[in-house]
Amino acid sequence: MKRPSIPQAPYSGSCLCAAVRYRLNARPLAANACHCMDCKKLTGATNLLMLLCERDAFVHEQGEVERYCKRADSGNAIDIVRCASCGVRLWHEPLSAPQLVFVAAGTLDDPSWVVPTSHIFTRSVSPGVVIQDDALVLRDGPTDRAALFDAFKRVYGA
Ligand SMILES: [Zn+2]
Ligand SMILES: [Zn+2]
Repeated sequence: MKRPSIPQAPYSGSCLCAAVRYRLNARPLAANACHCMDCKKLTGATNLLMLLCERDAFVHEQGEVERYCKRADSGNAIDIVRCASCGVRLWHEPLSAPQLVFVAAGTLDDPSWVVPTSHIFTRSVSPGVVIQDDALVLRDGPTDRAALFDAFKRVYGA
């Protein structure tokens, strides 16, 4: 497939009711799709698509949020951050990696350029999902998050 090029930062985003707004001041480090069963429940969709970003480049500009702490099978905890008013899930803060933030790609004001560069937990992928030829595909989770960053760099350049 032909991927759209990634526009220059910053990227802005909001929830459905627009009470919460955020800005991302740097290009993401990865665009990762997760197909695990928890992510299906979490999103209400067949998979989750997140931009892995540097925490320093992320700004929560306005709006009250609520947090739900989810513990993964790995034992790692992650704060899932939602709009306190409309409940839209906006970003995740991995407590084991406070230098990162994971932004829910669909909440960007312009999500048209986001195409996954990696797919994880494809052992439970839903049959309707398209997997790009150039994306990294892992049956289970990555042993190291660097693999997801490397996949992004390989596709889009450093
Ligand atoms: Zn909202
Ligand atoms: Zn998942």
